[in-house]
Amino acid sequence: MNRLGTEVLIIGGGIIGTAVARELSKYKVDVTLVEKEADCGWGSTKASFTLVCQGCDCLEFRKEYQRSKYVWESIPLMEPLCRELDVPFKTIGELGIIRNDEQLLKFGKMKARAEQWIPNLAAHQFIDRDTLHQMEPNVTREFIGGEHGSGEAK
Ligand SMILES: Cc1cc2nc3c(=O)[nH]c(=O)nc-3n(C[C@H](O)[C@H](O)[C@H](O)COP(=O)(O)OP(=O)(O)OC[C@H]3O[C@@H](n4cnc5c(N)ncnc54)[C@H](O)[C@@H]3O)c2cc1C
Repeated sequence: MNRLGTEVLIIGGGIIGTAVARELSKYKVDVTLVEKEADCGWGSTKASFTLVCQGCDCLEFRKEYQRSKYVWESIPLMEPLCRELDVPFKTIGELGIIRNDEQLLKFGKMKARAEQWIPNLAAHQFIDRDTLHQMEPNVTREFIGGEHGSGEAK
């Protein structure tokens, strides 16, 4: 059996493995990335919608979750990284639907919790049914309103 000598072995060439390899390529370190498929990016990465989290999902973050911390810290890194890699990046904001009073209550709680933790939280506002319709005429009038995030950090 052949033995592979390397200082760092990265198993899997998805977005994470390749990003780690790219980062390590800035240092004097011997890195090997192995991928079991015919090419990189054939795992979950190929299914991604390529959305950068900065909308409603931020409101679901919890301070005590390590994942929330990492995702939040990564958001401002995305645009410069895309520029560096020559990948188009567009800030388009987000429009969420609020179906009923129960969802409205939940949205209020999440927003209050997120704002305690993230002072520069992108503007997430409740919008009423009429405003929702002006922004998106195809949504049924049964919904009581929506949540709008501009996508711009305050
Ligand atoms: C439908 C869908 C939509 C999504 N949309 C978004 C989105 O809009 N925005 C967002 O941020 N995230 C999105 N995600 C999540 C995102 O795609 C994943 O979190 C991300 O791609 C995971 O990357 P990864 O490198 O950890 O895993 P993968 O991309 O799965 O990479 C793992 C790699 O390891 C390889 N591998 C496994 N075992 C071995 C082995 N033993 N030896 C060698 N290679 C091995 C696999 O072949 C694979 O290439 C979406 C996910 C799905 C399914």
